[in-house]
Amino acid sequence: MSAVAFSLPLRNRFRGITVREGVLIRGRVGWAEWSPFAEYGYPEIGNWWRATWEAANVGFPKPVRARVAVNATVPALGPELAHDLVANSGCGTAKVKVAEPGQTFADDLARVEAVRDALGSQGKLRVDANGAWSVDDAFDRLSRLSRFDLEYAEQPCATVEELAQLRRRFARSGVGVLIAADESIRRAGDPERVATLNAADIAVLKVQPLGGVRRCLELAERLSLPVVVSSALESSVGLAAGVALAAALPELPFACGLNTAAMFTTDVTDSPLVAVDGFIEVRDVTVAESGWQADATTTKAWRKRLDTLPAGLRSDGD
Ligand SMILES: [Mg+2]
Repeated sequence: MSAVAFSLPLRNRFRGITVREGVLIRGRVGWAEWSPFAEYGYPEIGNWWRATWEAANVGFPKPVRARVAVNATVPALGPELAHDLVANSGCGTAKVKVAEPGQTFADDLARVEAVRDALGSQGKLRVDANGAWSVDDAFDRLSRLSRFDLEYAEQPCATVEELAQLRRRFARSGVGVLIAADESIRRAGDPERVATLNAADIAVLKVQPLGGVRRCLELAERLSLPVVVSSALESSVGLAAGVALAAALPELPFACGLNTAAMFTTDVTDSPLVAVDGFIEVRDVTVAESGWQADATTTKAWRKRLDTLPAGLRSDGD
């Protein structure tokens, strides 16, 4: 299988990076993406490869819907920029990053208020703290943010136990904030503990970190929780797998976090998978001839990284 590295600049710094890199792999049924974040090693990146292998060589299950509702993603911007981003997104749902290192809770409050204003009272607003808060801080801050009518709070605390504790505290206090688990599903080793410990109301599933569309469908069934499909900040080729999962789930009650191609200044295709009026259509992505390939040094580094995968996994995806 041929592997071509890509390098896509971001409009705003996100997750500490300004350029997203990965490789596109061409398999039996088409192009697929492999793009584990730089700090991840084996065996974690093996799951990412299983997803790539499935997309390249097996393809996706049959969709049950033709389009997928998505949210606008708001990085840790100032209130004016956050407002404009949401107002121009066409999305009726926005996910706001909070608890960014170097910022204060006052920054979070101002951003969330601006986004609520941009959405109007009918819009859905969720926040994502990426596990940054203690249980006490999460309880206090989400209680204060709840006046902006939160749809849910994604990974407010780092561990599954903390999420469970926070959820019980909200239940006792009568503050109605739903909890979504993201990192606790894809990085904690045992995604099902979230369900066993009643730690979340919603599960966020990402195709690459969880080993592919079919594995995610099976996990969704075992968790018995409503699912939000999110991206791992992939190019449109990687996003197509997330859209395929969202399209194949029997139920999809929430907007998905798949509109992240809008965060790049360029993409691997001339026709990126970005939302129109808040929806992404379920369709194939055609890879462009040029404009996305990384330089020789980056390409070499990604081929070297591919070589850290066990040979058996590399060749048959299992
Ligand atoms: Mg998240």
